[in-house]
Amino acid sequence: MQRGSEGPLEVDLSELSGRSYRCIENCALCCLCQPELLPDEEARFRADPRLAEGVTDRHISSEVKGAALKLRGAHGSCWFLAGRRCRIYGDRPHFCRAFPVSVFVGWRVQLNANLSCRGIGLPGERLEDVGKGLLEEYGDSRLRDELKAAGRVFSDFVKNCREAWVAQSFSSLRDAGRALGDELMDGIGLSRVLTYAETGRTAQNSPARDIVKKVRRTEPEADIEERALIDGTELFDLHDLSLLPIYLDENLTWRIFRLVGRKIVGYELAEDGGTKETSSTDPDEVELLPMGAGAKEAMKEYLGTVNSRDCFLGHAAYLCDSENYDYNLAQVYLGALANNALDLWWRASFLAHLKGKDSLGRPEVREGIVFFDMDLLDLPTIGAFI
Ligand code: SF4
Ligand code: SF4
Repeated sequence: MQRGSEGPLEVDLSELSGRSYRCIENCALCCLCQPELLPDEEARFRADPRLAEGVTDRHISSEVKGAALKLRGAHGSCWFLAGRRCRIYGDRPHFCRAFPVSVFVGWRVQLNANLSCRGIGLPGERLEDVGKGLLEEYGDSRLRDELKAAGRVFSDFVKNCREAWVAQSFSSLRDAGRALGDELMDGIGLSRVLTYAETGRTAQNSPARDIVKKVRRTEPEADIEERALIDGTELFDLHDLSLLPIYLDENLTWRIFRLVGRKIVGYELAEDGGTKETSSTDPDEVELLPMGAGAKEAMKEYLGTVNSRDCFLGHAAYLCDSENYDYNLAQVYLGALANNALDLWWRASFLAHLKGKDSLGRPEVREGIVFFDMDLLDLPTIGAFI
Protein backbone atom coordinates (compact mmCIF):
# COMPACT_ATOMS: atom_id res chain seq x y z
CA MET A 1 0.00 0.00 0.00
CA GLN A 2 1.43 3.42 -0.91
CA ARG A 3 0.23 6.73 0.40
CA GLY A 4 -0.31 9.72 -1.84
CA SER A 5 -1.96 13.08 -1.66
CA GLU A 6 -5.44 11.62 -2.22
CA GLY A 7 -5.24 8.81 0.32
CA PRO A 8 -3.94 5.30 -0.04
CA LEU A 9 -3.26 3.80 -3.46
CA GLU A 10 -4.03 0.11 -3.29
CA VAL A 11 -1.28 -2.02 -4.81
CA ASP A 12 -1.28 -5.82 -4.71
CA LEU A 13 2.18 -7.36 -5.08
CA SER A 14 1.25 -10.75 -3.64
CA GLU A 15 1.75 -12.67 -6.92
CA LEU A 16 5.37 -11.51 -7.04
CA SER A 17 6.28 -12.00 -3.43
CA GLY A 18 8.60 -14.89 -2.67
CA ARG A 19 9.51 -15.36 -6.35
CA SER A 20 12.94 -14.67 -7.80
CA TYR A 21 13.94 -14.36 -11.42
CA ARG A 22 16.97 -14.42 -13.71
CA CYS A 23 16.83 -13.85 -17.47
CA ILE A 24 18.10 -16.91 -19.35
CA GLU A 25 20.67 -16.37 -22.07
CA ASN A 26 19.42 -17.50 -25.51
CA CYS A 27 15.78 -17.71 -24.40
CA ALA A 28 14.30 -14.55 -25.99
CA LEU A 29 10.74 -15.88 -25.69
CA CYS A 30 9.53 -12.40 -24.85
CA CYS A 31 11.10 -11.12 -28.09
CA LEU A 32 8.38 -13.04 -29.93
CA CYS A 33 5.68 -10.81 -28.41
CA GLN A 34 5.58 -7.68 -30.52
CA PRO A 35 6.39 -4.79 -28.14
CA GLU A 36 4.22 -1.68 -28.26
CA LEU A 37 5.94 1.69 -27.86
CA LEU A 38 4.76 4.19 -25.27
CA PRO A 39 4.23 7.72 -26.68
CA ASP A 40 7.54 9.07 -25.29
CA GLU A 41 9.37 5.97 -26.55
CA GLU A 42 7.90 6.41 -29.99
CA ALA A 43 9.35 9.92 -30.17
CA ARG A 44 12.76 8.65 -28.97
CA PHE A 45 12.75 5.75 -31.47
CA ARG A 46 11.65 7.86 -34.44
CA ALA A 47 14.35 10.46 -33.71
CA ASP A 48 17.19 7.94 -33.96
CA PRO A 49 17.72 6.36 -37.44
CA ARG A 50 19.17 3.18 -35.87
CA LEU A 51 16.00 2.71 -33.78
CA ALA A 52 13.56 4.18 -36.31
CA GLU A 53 14.19 1.36 -38.83
CA GLY A 54 12.48 -1.04 -36.40
CA VAL A 55 9.29 1.00 -35.83
CA THR A 56 5.97 0.16 -37.43
CA ASP A 57 2.40 1.40 -37.12
CA ARG A 58 1.03 -2.10 -37.56
CA HIS A 59 0.65 -4.59 -34.74
CA ILE A 60 -0.10 -8.29 -35.25
CA SER A 61 -3.17 -7.80 -33.08
CA SER A 62 -5.74 -5.60 -34.80
CA GLU A 63 -6.89 -4.51 -31.31
CA VAL A 64 -3.58 -2.76 -30.63
CA LYS A 65 -3.30 0.72 -32.09
CA GLY A 66 -0.21 2.94 -32.19
CA ALA A 67 3.47 2.39 -32.78
CA ALA A 68 5.20 -0.93 -32.14
CA LEU A 69 8.40 -2.73 -33.08
CA LYS A 70 8.49 -4.55 -36.42
CA LEU A 71 8.72 -8.29 -36.67
CA ARG A 72 11.32 -10.09 -38.71
CA GLY A 73 9.35 -11.51 -41.63
CA ALA A 74 5.61 -12.00 -41.27
CA HIS A 75 5.80 -13.95 -38.03
CA GLY A 76 9.37 -13.97 -36.76
CA SER A 77 10.88 -12.33 -33.70
CA CYS A 78 11.34 -8.66 -32.96
CA TRP A 79 13.24 -6.75 -35.65
CA PHE A 80 16.09 -6.06 -33.26
CA LEU A 81 16.80 -9.66 -32.28
CA ALA A 82 19.87 -11.30 -33.84
CA GLY A 83 21.31 -14.61 -32.68
CA ARG A 84 18.85 -14.41 -29.74
CA ARG A 85 20.49 -11.19 -28.60
CA CYS A 86 18.94 -7.75 -28.51
CA ARG A 87 20.80 -5.33 -30.80
CA ILE A 88 19.46 -2.31 -28.87
CA TYR A 89 19.60 -3.69 -25.35
CA GLY A 90 20.39 -0.36 -23.65
CA ASP A 91 17.58 1.32 -25.61
CA ARG A 92 14.98 -1.45 -25.45
CA PRO A 93 11.44 -0.25 -24.73
CA HIS A 94 9.55 -0.40 -21.47
CA PHE A 95 7.70 -3.60 -22.46
CA CYS A 96 10.99 -5.50 -22.72
CA ARG A 97 12.43 -4.07 -19.50
CA ALA A 98 9.30 -4.93 -17.54
CA PHE A 99 8.93 -8.54 -18.74
CA PRO A 100 8.11 -10.93 -17.00
CA VAL A 101 6.21 -8.54 -14.71
CA SER A 102 3.06 -6.80 -15.82
CA VAL A 103 1.05 -4.09 -14.11
CA PHE A 104 -2.72 -4.38 -14.31
CA VAL A 105 -4.97 -1.52 -13.35
CA GLY A 106 -8.58 -2.27 -12.49
CA TRP A 107 -10.21 -1.16 -9.25
CA ARG A 108 -6.69 -1.29 -7.76
CA VAL A 109 -3.17 -1.84 -9.10
CA GLN A 110 -2.06 -5.47 -9.24
CA LEU A 111 1.23 -6.88 -10.47
CA ASN A 112 1.40 -10.23 -12.25
CA ALA A 113 4.25 -12.58 -13.09
CA ASN A 114 4.22 -14.09 -16.58
CA LEU A 115 4.73 -17.77 -15.76
CA SER A 116 5.64 -18.63 -19.35
CA CYS A 117 9.04 -17.14 -18.50
CA ARG A 118 11.39 -19.96 -17.53
CA GLY A 119 13.58 -17.45 -15.69
CA ILE A 120 11.01 -17.23 -12.89
CA GLY A 121 12.08 -19.42 -10.00
CA LEU A 122 15.80 -19.16 -10.80
CA PRO A 123 17.95 -17.45 -8.17
CA GLY A 124 18.40 -13.80 -9.08
CA GLU A 125 16.41 -10.61 -8.65
CA ARG A 126 13.39 -10.58 -6.35
CA LEU A 127 10.33 -10.11 -8.56
CA GLU A 128 8.81 -7.88 -5.92
CA ASP A 129 11.76 -5.49 -6.32
CA VAL A 130 11.31 -5.53 -10.10
CA GLY A 131 7.64 -4.70 -9.58
CA LYS A 132 8.35 -1.90 -7.12
CA GLY A 133 10.87 -0.46 -9.58
CA LEU A 134 8.20 -0.40 -12.28
CA LEU A 135 5.73 1.37 -10.01
CA GLU A 136 8.38 3.99 -9.17
CA GLU A 137 8.94 4.49 -12.88
CA TYR A 138 5.22 5.08 -13.51
CA GLY A 139 4.93 7.45 -10.60
CA ASP A 140 2.01 8.04 -8.29
CA SER A 141 0.13 10.52 -10.44
CA ARG A 142 0.12 8.35 -13.60
CA LEU A 143 -1.07 5.35 -11.58
CA ARG A 144 -3.85 7.45 -10.08
CA ASP A 145 -4.94 8.68 -13.52
CA GLU A 146 -4.98 5.12 -14.89
CA LEU A 147 -6.91 3.96 -11.82
CA LYS A 148 -9.53 6.64 -12.26
CA ALA A 149 -10.11 5.63 -15.89
CA ALA A 150 -10.20 1.87 -15.15
CA GLY A 151 -12.28 2.40 -11.99
CA ARG A 152 -14.97 4.07 -14.11
CA VAL A 153 -15.08 1.05 -16.45
CA PHE A 154 -15.45 -1.34 -13.51
CA SER A 155 -18.16 0.85 -11.91
CA ASP A 156 -20.11 0.88 -15.18
CA PHE A 157 -19.74 -2.88 -15.39
CA VAL A 158 -21.07 -3.41 -11.84
CA LYS A 159 -23.97 -1.04 -12.55
CA ASN A 160 -24.86 -2.97 -15.73
CA CYS A 161 -24.71 -6.26 -13.80
CA ARG A 162 -27.07 -4.91 -11.14
CA GLU A 163 -29.54 -3.64 -13.70
CA ALA A 164 -29.55 -7.08 -15.36
CA TRP A 165 -29.83 -8.84 -11.97
CA VAL A 166 -26.65 -10.83 -12.57
CA ALA A 167 -24.28 -9.14 -10.09
CA GLN A 168 -22.05 -10.95 -7.59
CA SER A 169 -19.46 -9.59 -5.23
CA PHE A 170 -15.91 -10.19 -6.48
CA SER A 171 -15.03 -11.84 -3.17
CA SER A 172 -17.87 -14.39 -3.52
CA LEU A 173 -16.60 -15.31 -7.01
CA ARG A 174 -13.10 -15.90 -5.70
CA ASP A 175 -14.29 -17.78 -2.63
CA ALA A 176 -16.39 -20.05 -4.87
CA GLY A 177 -13.43 -20.55 -7.25
CA ARG A 178 -11.22 -21.49 -4.30
CA ALA A 179 -13.80 -23.87 -2.81
CA LEU A 180 -14.13 -25.63 -6.19
CA GLY A 181 -10.35 -26.09 -6.54
CA ASP A 182 -10.52 -29.91 -6.47
CA GLU A 183 -13.46 -30.08 -8.88
CA LEU A 184 -11.48 -28.03 -11.43
CA MET A 185 -8.89 -30.81 -11.71
CA ASP A 186 -11.25 -33.66 -12.26
CA GLY A 187 -13.30 -34.62 -15.34
CA ILE A 188 -16.65 -34.95 -13.54
CA GLY A 189 -16.04 -31.80 -11.48
CA LEU A 190 -15.12 -29.79 -14.59
CA SER A 191 -18.19 -31.11 -16.35
CA ARG A 192 -20.36 -29.97 -13.43
CA VAL A 193 -18.85 -26.48 -13.43
CA LEU A 194 -19.21 -26.12 -17.21
CA THR A 195 -22.80 -27.39 -17.13
CA TYR A 196 -23.54 -24.98 -14.26
CA ALA A 197 -22.04 -22.15 -16.32
CA GLU A 198 -24.62 -22.80 -19.03
CA THR A 199 -27.68 -23.78 -17.06
CA GLY A 200 -27.29 -22.98 -13.36
CA ARG A 201 -29.56 -20.00 -12.84
CA THR A 202 -28.17 -18.11 -9.87
CA ALA A 203 -29.71 -15.30 -7.83
CA GLN A 204 -27.98 -11.93 -7.80
CA ASN A 205 -25.56 -11.46 -4.88
CA SER A 206 -25.55 -15.09 -3.78
CA PRO A 207 -23.04 -15.95 -1.09
CA ALA A 208 -20.16 -18.18 -2.22
CA ARG A 209 -21.49 -21.19 -0.32
CA ASP A 210 -24.81 -21.05 -2.26
CA ILE A 211 -22.96 -20.81 -5.57
CA VAL A 212 -20.79 -23.81 -4.65
CA LYS A 213 -23.86 -25.77 -3.52
CA LYS A 214 -25.54 -25.06 -6.86
CA VAL A 215 -22.47 -26.25 -8.78
CA ARG A 216 -22.26 -29.45 -6.75
CA ARG A 217 -25.94 -30.18 -7.34
CA THR A 218 -25.60 -29.78 -11.12
CA GLU A 219 -25.76 -32.93 -13.25
CA PRO A 220 -22.43 -33.17 -15.12
CA GLU A 221 -23.65 -33.09 -18.71
CA ALA A 222 -20.70 -31.48 -20.51
CA ASP A 223 -18.50 -33.99 -22.36
CA ILE A 224 -15.04 -32.98 -21.17
CA GLU A 225 -12.97 -35.13 -23.54
CA GLU A 226 -14.95 -33.86 -26.52
CA ARG A 227 -14.64 -30.22 -25.41
CA ALA A 228 -10.93 -30.59 -24.80
CA LEU A 229 -10.48 -32.04 -28.27
CA ILE A 230 -12.54 -29.32 -29.98
CA ASP A 231 -10.93 -26.45 -28.03
CA GLY A 232 -7.44 -27.94 -28.28
CA THR A 233 -7.78 -28.37 -32.03
CA GLU A 234 -9.27 -24.90 -32.54
CA LEU A 235 -6.32 -23.44 -30.66
CA PHE A 236 -4.05 -24.40 -33.53
CA ASP A 237 -6.51 -23.75 -36.34
CA LEU A 238 -5.14 -20.35 -37.39
CA HIS A 239 -3.85 -19.35 -40.78
CA ASP A 240 -1.65 -16.51 -39.49
CA LEU A 241 1.37 -18.11 -37.79
CA SER A 242 2.08 -14.96 -35.78
CA LEU A 243 -1.14 -15.53 -33.83
CA LEU A 244 -0.40 -19.14 -32.84
CA PRO A 245 0.53 -19.87 -29.22
CA ILE A 246 4.27 -20.27 -28.69
CA TYR A 247 5.86 -22.93 -26.55
CA LEU A 248 9.43 -22.50 -25.40
CA ASP A 249 10.63 -26.02 -24.70
CA GLU A 250 13.20 -27.14 -22.09
CA ASN A 251 16.01 -26.72 -24.67
CA LEU A 252 14.88 -23.16 -25.41
CA THR A 253 13.58 -24.13 -28.86
CA TRP A 254 10.64 -22.00 -29.97
CA ARG A 255 7.80 -24.25 -31.05
CA ILE A 256 4.48 -23.59 -32.70
CA PHE A 257 1.73 -26.02 -33.65
CA ARG A 258 -0.77 -25.66 -36.42
CA LEU A 259 -3.77 -27.64 -37.60
CA VAL A 260 -3.11 -28.89 -41.14
CA GLY A 261 -5.99 -31.03 -42.43
CA ARG A 262 -6.69 -33.45 -39.57
CA LYS A 263 -3.19 -33.30 -38.05
CA ILE A 264 -1.55 -30.98 -35.54
CA VAL A 265 1.81 -30.25 -37.15
CA GLY A 266 4.65 -29.03 -34.91
CA TYR A 267 7.32 -26.62 -36.18
CA GLU A 268 10.52 -25.18 -34.87
CA LEU A 269 10.37 -21.42 -35.33
CA ALA A 270 13.42 -19.37 -36.37
CA GLU A 271 14.07 -15.67 -35.73
CA ASP A 272 13.35 -14.75 -39.34
CA GLY A 273 9.99 -16.53 -39.15
CA GLY A 274 11.25 -19.64 -40.97
CA THR A 275 9.72 -22.94 -39.85
CA LYS A 276 10.95 -26.52 -39.82
CA GLU A 277 8.42 -29.32 -39.38
CA THR A 278 9.23 -31.52 -36.40
CA SER A 279 6.10 -33.51 -35.53
CA SER A 280 2.67 -34.52 -36.74
CA THR A 281 -0.01 -35.64 -34.30
CA ASP A 282 -3.49 -37.01 -34.73
CA PRO A 283 -5.53 -34.93 -32.23
CA ASP A 284 -7.89 -37.90 -31.67
CA GLU A 285 -4.96 -39.67 -30.03
CA VAL A 286 -4.41 -36.91 -27.45
CA GLU A 287 -6.30 -37.76 -24.27
CA LEU A 288 -6.59 -35.82 -21.04
CA LEU A 289 -3.92 -37.69 -19.11
CA PRO A 290 -4.46 -38.75 -15.50
CA MET A 291 -2.82 -36.45 -12.95
CA GLY A 292 -0.68 -37.72 -10.12
CA ALA A 293 -0.50 -35.98 -6.73
CA GLY A 294 2.33 -33.63 -7.85
CA ALA A 295 0.41 -32.65 -10.99
CA LYS A 296 -2.73 -31.87 -8.98
CA GLU A 297 -0.77 -29.82 -6.51
CA ALA A 298 0.87 -27.80 -9.32
CA MET A 299 -2.46 -27.32 -11.07
CA LYS A 300 -4.18 -26.23 -7.88
CA GLU A 301 -1.44 -23.70 -7.10
CA TYR A 302 -1.67 -22.28 -10.60
CA LEU A 303 -5.47 -22.09 -10.64
CA GLY A 304 -5.22 -20.36 -7.25
CA THR A 305 -3.02 -17.73 -8.90
CA VAL A 306 -5.48 -17.32 -11.78
CA ASN A 307 -8.37 -17.03 -9.32
CA SER A 308 -6.63 -14.15 -7.56
CA ARG A 309 -5.72 -12.22 -10.73
CA ASP A 310 -7.70 -9.03 -11.24
CA CYS A 311 -7.11 -9.26 -15.00
CA PHE A 312 -8.87 -12.64 -14.97
CA LEU A 313 -11.83 -11.15 -13.16
CA GLY A 314 -11.69 -8.39 -15.75
CA HIS A 315 -11.76 -11.08 -18.43
CA ALA A 316 -14.93 -12.62 -16.93
CA ALA A 317 -16.42 -9.11 -16.87
CA TYR A 318 -15.50 -8.69 -20.55
CA LEU A 319 -17.24 -12.02 -21.35
CA CYS A 320 -20.29 -11.09 -19.30
CA ASP A 321 -20.57 -7.82 -21.19
CA SER A 322 -20.09 -9.48 -24.59
CA GLU A 323 -22.86 -11.95 -23.68
CA ASN A 324 -25.17 -9.00 -22.97
CA TYR A 325 -25.44 -9.80 -19.25
CA ASP A 326 -27.59 -12.84 -20.07
CA TYR A 327 -25.76 -15.02 -17.53
CA ASN A 328 -25.10 -14.47 -13.86
CA LEU A 329 -21.55 -13.29 -13.23
CA ALA A 330 -20.85 -16.38 -11.09
CA GLN A 331 -21.72 -18.61 -14.06
CA VAL A 332 -19.51 -16.61 -16.40
CA TYR A 333 -16.61 -16.45 -13.95
CA LEU A 334 -16.62 -20.12 -12.96
CA GLY A 335 -17.19 -21.15 -16.59
CA ALA A 336 -14.10 -19.15 -17.63
CA LEU A 337 -12.08 -20.69 -14.79
CA ALA A 338 -13.16 -24.19 -15.83
CA ASN A 339 -12.46 -23.55 -19.51
CA ASN A 340 -8.97 -22.36 -18.65
CA ALA A 341 -8.35 -25.35 -16.36
CA LEU A 342 -9.42 -27.62 -19.21
CA ASP A 343 -7.21 -25.77 -21.72
CA LEU A 344 -4.20 -26.12 -19.41
CA TRP A 345 -4.93 -29.80 -18.77
CA TRP A 346 -5.21 -30.41 -22.51
CA ARG A 347 -2.00 -28.51 -23.36
CA ALA A 348 -0.04 -30.35 -20.63
CA SER A 349 -1.44 -33.66 -21.95
CA PHE A 350 -0.60 -32.72 -25.54
CA LEU A 351 3.03 -31.90 -24.70
CA ALA A 352 3.33 -35.07 -22.59
CA HIS A 353 1.82 -37.08 -25.47
CA LEU A 354 4.55 -35.76 -27.78
CA LYS A 355 7.10 -37.18 -25.36
CA GLY A 356 5.32 -40.55 -25.22
CA LYS A 357 4.11 -40.10 -21.61
CA ASP A 358 0.84 -41.51 -20.37
CA SER A 359 0.34 -39.56 -17.15
CA LEU A 360 1.05 -36.10 -15.76
CA GLY A 361 3.33 -35.25 -12.86
CA ARG A 362 4.38 -31.83 -11.59
CA PRO A 363 6.97 -31.31 -14.42
CA GLU A 364 4.37 -31.99 -17.14
CA VAL A 365 1.91 -29.51 -15.61
CA ARG A 366 4.75 -27.01 -15.33
CA GLU A 367 5.33 -27.38 -19.10
CA GLY A 368 1.62 -26.84 -19.66
CA ILE A 369 1.82 -23.61 -17.64
CA VAL A 370 4.86 -22.42 -19.64
CA PHE A 371 2.80 -23.01 -22.80
CA PHE A 372 -0.36 -21.46 -21.38
CA ASP A 373 0.23 -18.52 -19.07
CA MET A 374 1.31 -16.04 -21.73
CA ASP A 375 -1.97 -16.64 -23.56
CA LEU A 376 -4.01 -16.35 -20.38
CA LEU A 377 -2.44 -12.96 -19.59
CA ASP A 378 -3.31 -11.90 -23.13
CA LEU A 379 -7.05 -12.59 -22.84
CA PRO A 380 -9.35 -9.64 -23.48
CA THR A 381 -10.21 -7.91 -20.21
CA ILE A 382 -11.76 -4.75 -18.83
CA GLY A 383 -9.22 -2.63 -16.98
CA ALA A 384 -5.79 -2.24 -18.56
CA PHE A 385 -2.22 -3.48 -18.56
CA ILE A 386 0.00 -0.41 -18.56
S1 SF4 B 1 11.06 -15.03 -21.29
FE1 SF4 B 1 12.08 -14.60 -19.34
S2 SF4 B 1 14.01 -15.74 -19.40
FE2 SF4 B 1 13.23 -15.62 -21.49
S3 SF4 B 1 14.24 -13.83 -22.36
FE3 SF4 B 1 12.26 -13.16 -21.58
S4 SF4 B 1 12.66 -12.44 -19.50
FE4 SF4 B 1 14.44 -13.67 -20.14
S1 SF4 C 1 13.79 -4.64 -28.38
FE1 SF4 C 1 15.28 -6.17 -27.82
S2 SF4 C 1 14.54 -7.03 -25.91
FE2 SF4 C 1 12.84 -5.96 -26.86
S3 SF4 C 1 11.72 -7.50 -28.03
FE3 SF4 C 1 13.20 -6.51 -29.40
S4 SF4 C 1 15.00 -7.78 -29.34
FE4 SF4 C 1 13.76 -8.33 -27.57
